[in-house]
Amino acid sequence: MHPDVQKVLLTEEEIRDRVKQLGQQISRDYQGKKVLVVGILKGAMIFLADLVRNISIPTYFDFMAVSSYGSSTQSSGAVRILKDLDRSIEGKHVLIVEDIVDTGLTLKYLVENLNSRGPESLKICTLLDKPERRTVDINAHYKGFTIPNEFVVGYGLDFNERYRNLPYVAVLKPEIYQG
Ligand code: 5GP
Repeated sequence: MHPDVQKVLLTEEEIRDRVKQLGQQISRDYQGKKVLVVGILKGAMIFLADLVRNISIPTYFDFMAVSSYGSSTQSSGAVRILKDLDRSIEGKHVLIVEDIVDTGLTLKYLVENLNSRGPESLKICTLLDKPERRTVDINAHYKGFTIPNEFVVGYGLDFNERYRNLPYVAVLKPEIYQG
């Protein structure tokens, strides 16, 4: 285990099994259709890479990068697009792939923004859900795990850009968050 980690919340095996199930469920639900997976950089990249390899229907990718104003552990609600999609999503079946839904503010913004571009359908798939922290009424159609109100890192999620490459989801030691 990494020396900065206090506890592992989700192991590599747990994540692998659940991601496989999600991919199978998505493949069933979108049977006969093509899906455009929109990955939200950078946090969702590792989840997306594993998820799409478990999807058996025709799958296309695009990416967006957004930043919420505020400190690294608190989202303020204002969202800025750092990188927009490369192509139009009009008439397409779009699946947003996110790392975590916390307050829900980022996702609410993304859903409104992408819905205004005329997709045929728009659904959300998130690896993690922290429902205790929700301030807006938004829910993902596909959820990997519901977790308690703790700041987590690993499997794509960072703290000050570090720890994204940990193969598990973990909580860091308090002294690390305090800097
Ligand atoms: P929301 O807008 O739902 O409050 O926050 C969404 C974004 O905040 C996520 O995409 C993620 O970048 C960040 N975030 C929220 N909770 C956590 C967490 O526990 N760990 C990490 N690393 N990022 C988080």
